[in-house]
Amino acid sequence: NFNYTMNIEREIYMEKSDFNEFKLSKEILKSLELLNYNEPTKVQKRFIPIILKKNDVIIQSHTGSGKTATFAIPVCQFVDWKENKPQALIITPTRELALQVKEDVFNIGRFKRLKVCALYGKSPFYIQAKELKQKTHIVVGTPGRINDHLSRNTLDFSNIKYLIIDEADEMMKMGFIKQIQSIISELPTNRLTIVLSATIPKEIKDLCCKYMKNPIHIALENELTKEVIIQEQYKVDTNKKTEVLINLLKVENPDSCMIFCNTQKKVEELFKEFTNKGYEKNKLSFSRNKSLDIKDSHTNKTQYYFFGHPCNNYLCERIHGGMEQIDRFKIMNNYKKSKFRYLIATDVAARGIDIDNISLVINYDVPNKVENYVHRIGRTGRIGNKGKAITLVSDFEEKLMYDIQMYLNKNISINKKPNIEKVLSSKEDFIKKINLPTKVKEEKSMKVNKNIIKLHINAGKKTKMRAVDIVGTLCNLDDVEASDIGIINIMDISTYVEILNNKGESVLTQLQTKTIKGRLRKVNRTER
Ligand code: AMP
Repeated sequence: NFNYTMNIEREIYMEKSDFNEFKLSKEILKSLELLNYNEPTKVQKRFIPIILKKNDVIIQSHTGSGKTATFAIPVCQFVDWKENKPQALIITPTRELALQVKEDVFNIGRFKRLKVCALYGKSPFYIQAKELKQKTHIVVGTPGRINDHLSRNTLDFSNIKYLIIDEADEMMKMGFIKQIQSIISELPTNRLTIVLSATIPKEIKDLCCKYMKNPIHIALENELTKEVIIQEQYKVDTNKKTEVLINLLKVENPDSCMIFCNTQKKVEELFKEFTNKGYEKNKLSFSRNKSLDIKDSHTNKTQYYFFGHPCNNYLCERIHGGMEQIDRFKIMNNYKKSKFRYLIATDVAARGIDIDNISLVINYDVPNKVENYVHRIGRTGRIGNKGKAITLVSDFEEKLMYDIQMYLNKNISINKKPNIEKVLSSKEDFIKKINLPTKVKEEKSMKVNKNIIKLHINAGKKTKMRAVDIVGTLCNLDDVEASDIGIINIMDISTYVEILNNKGESVLTQLQTKTIKGRLRKVNRTER
């Protein structure tokens, strides 16, 4: 409906560009402040007002633009804390993305005490089912696992008012269309639907026509075309690629770098090549999680190697779909915290995953699909940062590279390989940097978790403990109000309760002598 869209557009332009002026609750504004979201990004300025007006929207924007918060802020604003059944459902294509979106949404809803539950495969079903039995406001999951929960009646859709389909084009590519349709068919029709997709192929259009109400579709200009990311290509013989890659890395000497290959096998080969010296010297075979843990027999200190150079740091990891999920999560998490500088990956790591400040992306192989090129290089140049993307192109990949340039409507400059003098003169700086201690970054959630303490109470469902009993006791303590009480989790024989606003220590002290539900309980501080 064109007119309708125009009216809305005019209103948006009148909106101010400060989070305070979106009329959000003070709990959400507090999270945004602690997360250092000082000003809405372009996509947020554009879409948050539309979503707050409860219009269905199709958000066509590249990753790294602040997409997640664009739907998470209004959804957290809308959700009613008092309701026990899930009110919002967010579908994502991959497990990593489900977990990341869960964290982002949880951080934004932190002070509204919203419970967010992530459902994805290769993780125990019964734990998720148990979590869903408790108060849950928002569910984030992959299509397969959401369907499993539906078919086993462990997920209640009757109160879903908000549906978000994230990375919709990727989900279509992965063949999730049937599963998504089956999920949507179970949802109440009286709901708000938000679809996020980098491209809008016909299948997505059909899906949107069928399941959305007068959706407003705005495509935002792709930042990639605005030279945020410098793009270069090198013509390289296939059998020389690794050598050229190593030389380029020495010359570029990036703070943080992702290297993409097309196959799991190549990722493993490169990873071994990069850390080779260590393997040979210590005769270690590849084993889970131990790959870089090589102890020096004299000093008992871990000795790492990078391109044969001994170094003090854990520098390089790899990720692909053939690895155990638990390792994939661990590696992504360590990379997000900057625990190591180089990540070698297949396209599993190219979509949606949000890591700050990757300065260099290298395509060891030219991606087979043009869109994958955009997703890969989109790992750099995020939220106002500059980045560089280099692609190594062999003879038989030239056609693919040509297609990419046609797709982007852009010539990617062909550079000359660094000569030996240049590589040698860069070596000293390179070795210096690989031995610099890495500055481990604070997790984003740490910022919002400051001043929050989690307590463990030695009583639970088996002794008929209910949330009201906890709230009742806590509100009778000195200087404690309902707004100081965070998420309460009642298990069979234990209860976990979060105390906000730096009042945890005082609550803990007071509970040593105050009864809960008629009895003195053992209460202690616990890890989050
Ligand atoms: P996304 O496009 O959702 O992957 O977001 C990219 C990154 O931008 C994430 O690290 C967000 O936490 C961050 N971000 C989102 N909104 C803002 C904002 N308004 N100001 C600063 N950073 C933001």
